[in-house]
Amino acid sequence: MSKFKVFITRPVREEILTKIAEECEVDMWHTSAILPPIAERIPPLDGLMTYGHEPVSPEMIATAPNLKAISVVGVGYDHVHVEACRERGIAVGHTPGVLSDTTADMTMALLLAAARNIVPAYNHVQVDKQWHYYDPNILWGTDVHHSTLGIVGMGRIGHAVAKRARAFDMRVLYYKRERRPDWEQELGVEYVTLENLLEASDFVTLHVPLTEETTHLISTAELALMKKTAILVNIARGPVVDHYALYEALKQGQIAGAAVDVTEPEPINTDHPLLDLENVIIAPHLGSATVQTRMKMMTMAMENLLAGLKGEQLPYGVLQPNFPQ
Ligand code: NAP
Repeated sequence: MSKFKVFITRPVREEILTKIAEECEVDMWHTSAILPPIAERIPPLDGLMTYGHEPVSPEMIATAPNLKAISVVGVGYDHVHVEACRERGIAVGHTPGVLSDTTADMTMALLLAAARNIVPAYNHVQVDKQWHYYDPNILWGTDVHHSTLGIVGMGRIGHAVAKRARAFDMRVLYYKRERRPDWEQELGVEYVTLENLLEASDFVTLHVPLTEETTHLISTAELALMKKTAILVNIARGPVVDHYALYEALKQGQIAGAAVDVTEPEPINTDHPLLDLENVIIAPHLGSATVQTRMKMMTMAMENLLAGLKGEQLPYGVLQPNFPQ
């Protein structure tokens, strides 16, 4: 029997590649520096593993009559046109849960870095070499402990953030469409409207998936509701925040700062005005990027891919194979 034809869009670890190659003829894009040519590679494929966020459009899917499975290395699958896959019975897999704690750690890292001026401190000492004497009057930050945290979109990652916030004695407000009284009991979090959350929080952190409804969920009107001393953390997806509204809010002092792991577009253009502001920290989409978690994600994605190719139930499925047409 001939092997399944598979394209992997970025280099994965050797052991993962070896296991996939036992059952598949693998074409793996060799670098992360140049975008993978998905459109050009997709027509003969049985399976696609996306290890990045390049769009997989209905038009691309239409060129691949044998496509059986798309396996996303990540929990967010907004870059894959799931409706087009559903119509064709193509299985779609992702890697939920395994990265929640790691992404929550990164959320706290961004929040703490912004609150306590870690980047300016690094610049002061190591880049500008300006630490000549102890100055008690520089780089005052703001307290994280006993402050109020607003979690927008409290699911797996938001829940993990709330657990961490408790250790900092923070008051935690959350907003999502469906209330979770069990989590209110477990963690002492308080359910509020988005407006109330924005008005009352010292830190606002975003954990919604990117959908039509959440695109530019945070724009001029929402930023105007926030405290002037507040810090916004976005580790969800770039387009959840209107970046020009964010730029204006940061520049005008409408909010005090922002720390983001995701941007719109991604990567952010090198001439984007946000890059010139000192009250914003931008990380290059590192939420789940630890050695341990990335290995687990690749393993889950491999299991999804191999199951989908054989028409079996995906262990971590968004859409199962042969989904009703
Ligand atoms: P999840 O468990 O599905 O949680 C998402 C939460 O968002 C749910 O509680 C959902 O609750 C809420 N939500 C969805 N639509 C909403 C809306 N319109 N308004 C308000 N709340 C809404 O997902 P997760 O595993 O926590 O991951 C969340 C997102 O984080 C992913 O989709 C991904 O894009 C992003 N992420 C980023 C990184 C990174 O590296 N930066 C890493 C991992 C994940 P309701 O349905 O009740 O509204």
